[in-house]
Amino acid sequence: MDDMKCSFELSLKAWLDGELSASRSGEVARHVESCSSCAAACADYRAVSACLRSAAAAVPPLPLEALRARWELVRRDVRDERIRTVRVLRRVAAVAAAVLVVALGVIAVEETSGGRATSDQDALGRDAAIEIVLSSPGWGGEWP
Ligand SMILES: [Zn+2]
Repeated sequence: MDDMKCSFELSLKAWLDGELSASRSGEVARHVESCSSCAAACADYRAVSACLRSAAAAVPPLPLEALRARWELVRRDVRDERIRTVRVLRRVAAVAAAVLVVALGVIAVEETSGGRATSDQDALGRDAAIEIVLSSPGWGGEWP
């Protein structure tokens, strides 16, 4: 191509893509037949377009079925993980409930045997056990 740009050069791509009006398209077509610079530019555009088309054809389509299957596996993993988490929380709650039952049993025995702990140390131990049970994150007030 010459250093001097042809005034039609900016219209070539739009002409090749069929984006020009009928009258402008006719003008460009007639010009390209007589202008070697624009004819060469059109040949370049066509070569690039053909190259892009063949490259696009070489790319395999997205494996949608494989992606769907993978997504389903991920969804199942998440669901199973939730189920495992609930099971762990239920176990924690069961342990906490068992500790509570024991603590309440100790309190009941103390109540029936005089209403007081036998020593300050016993009372502190009892209070600490009750506090641990009540502050346990697994203890949601629900029996497993
Ligand atoms: Zn030209």
